[in-house]
Order: sequence, then C-alpha cells, then structure tokens
Amino acid sequence: MPFLLPDPRTTLRLHLNENTAGCSPSVLAAIRGLDALDVSTYPNAAAATTAAEKYFGVDPGWVHLTDGLDDGLRVVAETARLRPGPADGSTPTAVVVDPAFEMYEVYITGVGFQIVRVPPGPDFAFPAAALERALTPRTRLVYLTDPNNPTGQAIPEGTAERVAAKLPDAFVVKDEAYAEFSGRSLIGPALDRHRNLLVGRTFSKAFGLAGMRVGALVAHPDTLEPMRRALPPFAVNAVALRALEAALADRAHLAWYLAQVAASKQAVYDFCEQRGLRYWKSDGNFVLVQLDHRADDARRALAADGILISGRNHQAGCTGAVRITTGILAHTTRCLDALGRALDA
Ligand SMILES: *Cc1c(COP(=O)(O)O)cnc(C)c1O
Repeated sequence: MPFLLPDPRTTLRLHLNENTAGCSPSVLAAIRGLDALDVSTYPNAAAATTAAEKYFGVDPGWVHLTDGLDDGLRVVAETARLRPGPADGSTPTAVVVDPAFEMYEVYITGVGFQIVRVPPGPDFAFPAAALERALTPRTRLVYLTDPNNPTGQAIPEGTAERVAAKLPDAFVVKDEAYAEFSGRSLIGPALDRHRNLLVGRTFSKAFGLAGMRVGALVAHPDTLEPMRRALPPFAVNAVALRALEAALADRAHLAWYLAQVAASKQAVYDFCEQRGLRYWKSDGNFVLVQLDHRADDARRALAADGILISGRNHQAGCTGAVRITTGILAHTTRCLDALGRALDA
C-alpha cells in the first residue's frame, strides 16, 4: 500500500519536515521549460551533478545524485553487503544511535544485517562511550545523523571520523539531511582521509524539492565507485535534475527560507518557555517538544484543525514528545495558536 498523505493544500503538514513555503519559483519555471525531447530521452545528470559539486565545494567526481537521499542510504547498505562479512561467519551488524531516523532500520534489515541500537544519553546527550562499545569486528555499516532527527541535536565533532578510522571494513554514513539549517558539514578533507566515510545530503528539506526525489552522496570518488555500480544508470529523472539546477541557482530563496525557519524555531522556544514545556533547541527545521500525557490529545486536536505534527512515542527517549516542523513563520504561528488552544482545553 502506498504511503498515504493528506493534500498539502488543505492540511498544514508539519509532520515530515518538508519545506512549508514550497520550492523557489525559478524551479517551477525551469520545469515548465522542459520540452518533448527532454521527456522522451534518458536524462543527462552531468549539469546538475556539476552544480551540486560546486554547491558542496568539492572536485568533479565527488558527488553522486540519488533518487532522494533515501535511495543513497539504501545503496550504501547494499554495497556494504557486497563486502566480505565477519571472519567467524556471523551476521554483520549495522549501528545506529537512537532515537534514529526510521528508514535506517528498513535499509539495514533489507540487506540482512543485524541492527544494533545505541540508546541516547540523558537529555539526548550523545552516547559516545556506548557507541564505542557497539562497534565491533562484525560492524559493516554505521549511520550517524547530524543534526539528529527528531531531536535536532548535534553530534560531537570528530565522531564520524573516529568511527571511520576504527572500522576500515565498514561504511560510515554521516546523514546531513539538515545541514543547511545547522550550517555544519563534514564535507571537506575528512572525506579524503577516510575512504569509508560518506556524507548524505538531500534537496528535499531546505531546498523544498521533496516531491522531486533528489539527494546526494558525497565522498571520495574511490568510495563512491561501488555505489555507482550498484545504482541504476538513470536514477534521477529529467524533471528532478532540471529542478535541482534551478534550486541551487536561487540562493536568495534559500537564505529567505533559512531566516523563516530560524524565526519559527524561536517562536516555538518562546511558546514552550511561556508554558513551561520542555523542548530541545534544534539545529534542524523542526523542534521536539515534550507534551507528556497531553501529547496524543494535542495531536488529535491539531489534526481536527487541519494541522499535522509528528508523535514520537515509539522512539527511544521520546515518549510523550512531538516533533513540529518549523517552516515559514505564519505556519508556525498557526500551529502554536492551535496547540495553545488544545493545551488550554
Ligand atoms: C528527510 C530525511 C532524509 C530523506 O531525504 P530524501 O532525500 O527526501 O529521501 C534522510 N535522512 C534524514 C535524517 C531525514 O530526516
């Protein structure tokens, strides 16, 4: 069954960390500019890849565009499976730090690896020592997320490099889906030093291209080589490629959106302070708010108002917490007004 989502024209979707403003108008103009041959011929990813390499500040060959970052995350797991397994014949393991992006488990179990979950420290402190203990000669894959989804927390600097150095037989993916909002990235010399380390990026969130499905793996060309072999030749379609080029060219739209998100996060923090709610300052385009026993009722009340936020009860350390996407300020204000009414009811 397909993943069912309500119409964004009638429902304010603040549960998937989408860009609530929509993409840049120049993206729509670029898509409208496609002609019949663009549609009838196999797409050429060269121009969009070059634009992405420039955007990330890397040399040619260091970026591989994927059908959303999700497909990039999946192909790294597929590639890890092709490597020799543990010497003792046991099942390889893949390590994630909880509360982790839910799709990691899908890709890990999809290749038959055993998932090892490292629980968060108190108040979502990064569990560095527990992570260290979880890394063993059986480990073939590690997903790290900076900033983390759903907590918005940073991971300590140097973590991904340390893990990559310790596990030469594993692939280490630093998922930077929210890097535009955090202003941080590992893209740089670390990827040259560690040939088992990859950065994952997406154009779904800050650039508002979630419907296009385009993401990127960034790594040394030698690191990317086995992933390129495992992917279909035309993984990203012609419309998405054209959209990406246009989106990357409109930095003013990006800057405007980042400012909206910053103002929205501040509005959520202020709301929580006024009401004595626990929250976690976020480096992403979302805020995790602790509503405890009121979480489910509040979520239902908001849904009745046509606003969706994300309940996180099922994730480690998140019982009673909701994740609210912080897009443009008008949307955040509407959500907070409704949440205020729900909590007062
Ligand atoms: C949204 C998200 C992605 C997926 O991005 P797509 O490019 O839309 O597939 C990957 N990782 C994290 C942590 C995310 O939140």
